[in-house]
Amino acid sequence: MKDELVSQEETDVITGLYSKAAILNKLNDFLQENIECSIIVSDIDDLEDFCNNYGKLYGEFAISYFSDIVKNIEYECYVGRIVNDRFIILIKSADHEEIIGIIKYIQKQYIIFSRNNELEKNLTLSFGVARYPKCGDNIDILVEKANAAFRHVKRSGKNNYAFYIETEGENQGYLEDNSENLHITNEELLTMIKEAMNETKSSDKAIPFILYRVAKQFDLDKVSVIEYDIKAKSLYCQYQWTAAGIPSEKRQYLPYSKTAVQHLMDELDINGGKIIFDYMEKGETSDIFRFHLNQRGVKSAIHYKISNDNNIYYCLKYESHSKRRDWTPQEEKLLFNISIYIVKALCSKMTDGRTDEITDRLLNYDRLTKLFTLQRFIQEAHILRAEHPKEQFILAYCDFRNFKYINESFGYARGDNILSEFAGILREIHSGETGCVCRAMNDCFISMIMMKDGGIEEVSQIYYTVTNKIRELNKEVNLILDTGIYILNKDDDISVGIDNANYARRAVKETPNTGFRIFDDKMLEQLNIESLMLNSLDEAIKNGEFKVYYQPKVMLSERKIKGAEALVRWQKEGCDMVYPDQFIPFCENNGSIGKIDYYVLENVCKTIRRWLDNDIAPVCISVNLSRNDCIEEGFFDKILYVVEKYHIPHRYLEFEITESAFVENTDILNSFVRRLLDTGFEVSIDDFGSGYSSLNLLPDMPVSIIKLDREFWKSGKPENAGKRKFLLRKVIETIKLLDFKIICEGIEYPEQADSCLEMGCDMVQGYLFGKPMPIEEFEKYNITKYERGMV
Ligand code: C2E
Ligand code: CA
Ligand code: CA
Repeated sequence: MKDELVSQEETDVITGLYSKAAILNKLNDFLQENIECSIIVSDIDDLEDFCNNYGKLYGEFAISYFSDIVKNIEYECYVGRIVNDRFIILIKSADHEEIIGIIKYIQKQYIIFSRNNELEKNLTLSFGVARYPKCGDNIDILVEKANAAFRHVKRSGKNNYAFYIETEGENQGYLEDNSENLHITNEELLTMIKEAMNETKSSDKAIPFILYRVAKQFDLDKVSVIEYDIKAKSLYCQYQWTAAGIPSEKRQYLPYSKTAVQHLMDELDINGGKIIFDYMEKGETSDIFRFHLNQRGVKSAIHYKISNDNNIYYCLKYESHSKRRDWTPQEEKLLFNISIYIVKALCSKMTDGRTDEITDRLLNYDRLTKLFTLQRFIQEAHILRAEHPKEQFILAYCDFRNFKYINESFGYARGDNILSEFAGILREIHSGETGCVCRAMNDCFISMIMMKDGGIEEVSQIYYTVTNKIRELNKEVNLILDTGIYILNKDDDISVGIDNANYARRAVKETPNTGFRIFDDKMLEQLNIESLMLNSLDEAIKNGEFKVYYQPKVMLSERKIKGAEALVRWQKEGCDMVYPDQFIPFCENNGSIGKIDYYVLENVCKTIRRWLDNDIAPVCISVNLSRNDCIEEGFFDKILYVVEKYHIPHRYLEFEITESAFVENTDILNSFVRRLLDTGFEVSIDDFGSGYSSLNLLPDMPVSIIKLDREFWKSGKPENAGKRKFLLRKVIETIKLLDFKIICEGIEYPEQADSCLEMGCDMVQGYLFGKPMPIEEFEKYNITKYERGMV
């Protein structure tokens, strides 16, 4: 070990080793200079138990012993303490065998330490190794890979080491560990298991050890203890040991649908609680069971279903993935006995750590669907990305449209059922090494999956399939699923990615079946505008960044400008002009629209005042109001206040309220509008015919003017042009019969203006007569056109 760890701030006080920052700096130096090296993450197994038994001071002693040992290593190596008893060792240019030699040396020294101190149990250590340049050339990635190998050791029984190894030509890494021959006779194994159970107070410590020993003894690849929840028809993996390269399902719900779980359990019952799948396939496995095993890469297996005294069922699974094999009657018997031991241990656990585990499950799993909670999902997503640094991932945010309606009309039980079914479908796609999924809340599901060669096309296809499946299962409900997709960049934070996917979802238009949107640059720009607006709306108002533009309204019969509509724009210095469609809906949602509308109204009042004071003939100006304004308490008084402040005769002001505003809170809206009319203002229904309105509501509309939406002039199929014109004529006729004034907006071509005149609607507004323009321009325009007569 190098003697140069002298500088004070670089050292860790307890051990005299490098601090975390210093050891990472060292690693950085190696990478800069292209020096081959190994990064080893290590800790002392179960140090917490050790401290509980022997005292904290003893624990510190065990930790500082680590530095004593490594100082004697003859290789050029550097050691840093990361936190508590977690260390990073950097070893310069040692080969595979030499590293194993060093690890074994450290392990041996701790056995000596244990003996010298007459400890009841030897202190052991776990090690995870990543190698540079083999495993990458980025500090974070290298450390994460060493950590991944380290976690693998911790999961599979501790007291061991594992190397993270990158397979040639493939991105996926696998782990190679120390498969020392642990073989003992079956009797010895049983005795060892009994002892382990008696010695350790907690089954949480004993069971992983037992699983590990059993796996080694029988040369298995996966041994699992699964809890079967009869009511929820779910399988929860409580304990598991997995061999290198086999994904762990520990502390997860297994990705089976309720029907599949029922099948598997029924089959175990039919076979007296035991199913053997062996080399000759002479066991009792049915096609379904075999399919299920094959699909998960299992070549041979024994499953037991055992109940404990508390009427909880467990499924004990012993599996071989690497090869097909037979099971001798002795082996079967032994495994059965071991299973009984384990279930007994779980019984005793009922009385000790049970509540902890339940809290843990509540935090990590959604009660209804057994998917991850959002919090746990974010953790898993981080790990998944770190384990596959070269892969690109996408985030999908799914939400059922109007799920409230489904709950209300089909019942909450049916709603819950749909959500769990949907969770099952998602789980089947997203579990394992390529993705993860959670229920974020209510009917919102978030998933992350690895982008395959098929790119975004393939991803879209996956979500279309998912949607079709759930729709197919619930035909009579007409489920509509909206999905937003975000492609994660390397440096993107997961939470930001989730927000963006959700943003894309919200941008799904009201399509009849199912919506699907990918977050694009336009949305990014929009999001930037929104965050800018959120933070500086008051500033922007104060600085006069909102500009009011005026678009002329023309009386065709008199060929005169009779009014204008005030339309707001946002012009931040040094930025492009932002149009209202980009910020009004956002401000309506966050409740700040009132401020903007009030600002526009005051601006309009000032203008009219100036006209009146300067003998310029005023025209009536219409101001747009949002629904929120109309239902906001006191907004009416604010309007009156500002109008009086500038002494504006009420006939010069008109308020436009879009027809969609009248869908909810109709009574409040109607009374608001009535007060405006009673006070002498004009009120118009904006965008009439664009959405919900129907002609039969018209008689009750408390307004003076109807503004026909510009959609009426949209060109559809040419062969239907006649029908469209006929319809428009009828609409105009009806509105006039009901004694409303009519204005047509969006008039772009002379023929449209002619039609308007001919159909009896003489007020028009549109690009043909003038786009929205700044006040100075409008004034010039008004005077010249007014004097010359229009058009
Ligand atoms: P709107 O009230 O329906 O306003 C008419 C919109 O149609 C304006 O867009 C106008 O520029 C555009 N337009 C006018 N003539 C034509 C034409 O011939 N062809 C076409 N294609 N478009 C035409 P703008 O100014 O972008 O405003 C968009 C919407 O933003 C407005 O729709 C209104 O709903 C909202 N908005 C604008 N200013 C305000 C405001 O001060 N307060 C509130 N609450 N909403 C506003
Ligand atoms: Ca309007
Ligand atoms: Ca309009």
